[in-house]
Amino acid sequence: MWTVLITPKSYYEVRKEMEPLLKGCRVIYNETGRTLTEEEMCRLASGADGILVGVDPVSRKVIEGAPRLKAVSKYGVGVDNIDREALEERGIPLATTPGANNVSVAELTVGLLFVLARNLYAAAAEVKAGGWSRVRGTELTGKTLGLVGCGGIGREVARRARGLLMKVCFYDPYFQDERFIREHELERLSLEELLAVSDFVSLHVPLTGETRKLMNRERLGLMKPGAYLINTARGELVDEEALHWALSSGRLAGAACDVFSKEPPGDHPLLRLDNFLLTPHVGAHTHEAVTRMAKAATENLLRLLAA
Ligand code: NAD
Repeated sequence: MWTVLITPKSYYEVRKEMEPLLKGCRVIYNETGRTLTEEEMCRLASGADGILVGVDPVSRKVIEGAPRLKAVSKYGVGVDNIDREALEERGIPLATTPGANNVSVAELTVGLLFVLARNLYAAAAEVKAGGWSRVRGTELTGKTLGLVGCGGIGREVARRARGLLMKVCFYDPYFQDERFIREHELERLSLEELLAVSDFVSLHVPLTGETRKLMNRERLGLMKPGAYLINTARGELVDEEALHWALSSGRLAGAACDVFSKEPPGDHPLLRLDNFLLTPHVGAHTHEAVTRMAKAATENLLRLLAA
């Protein structure tokens, strides 16, 4: 009988549907309702054969403290919380669930485009505070959306933005699907060109050594004055101090993020700005995506354990 540790908070919501798949396993769930700390992971993973993990740390310490560990299954695609080198040293395979949450994150991104363009966040808050000032917005039609990263999520955003009659350009040196580019009339640009022409810039790259603080003060300064930034990828892609400068100085009109370098962010100065909006990492948190991810990650884990 395998012992498996399952950490994602949202998995817990669909665990009843997943129980038939896990028949015969001893399952340890994360019942805290929050992301686990490294110490908690060490304790809970110490006797596990497999880990199905969300954003909780699978660090070297966690891996080394789990002598029976044979497989890790990521609930999603971002593997920046997992020490892949430490896994490789032990020959422990890692699986992800590519595509399972593309539509959900893309739809959230499109939602944030509308929220920023029409200032819905501040407008609704003002009405609740007793005000009624009719804030002027901007149309999306004909505006340019710049996608930094044109992978699974970036492509779903591109299709939807084209449906909204936006112009879409992208920067992704690794994306080679020329047919998709032609079919959706996308324009490939350098990052500098993209920042200079886009009314909205949306980030869809993984967090790597190359992309950490990709949007630093210099690059934010290259953006069109009055443009907007959307980040539904990873908080660390953005230098938050530089973003505070860009938003408070009026260099950028607004920014909407679903991710932050520290989640939850605590009392961060960005949260005091009216033109900054942060959602609590809900991109993949829809019933459809959670069910798809839970099923795919469970099947991946069991396949790796049985191999
Ligand atoms: P993906 O791997 O399908 O696509 C990433 C794309 O980025 C690829 O096309 C790759 O070529 C490109 N890329 C890599 N390095 C680059 C660089 N330095 N410059 C430009 N392009 C580069 O990943 P995805 O599924 O589209 O996910 C994108 C991001 O969204 C990831 O950061 C992921 O962690 C994040 N994400 C967030 C949520 C959420 O809940 N908010 C959910 C899922 C994924």
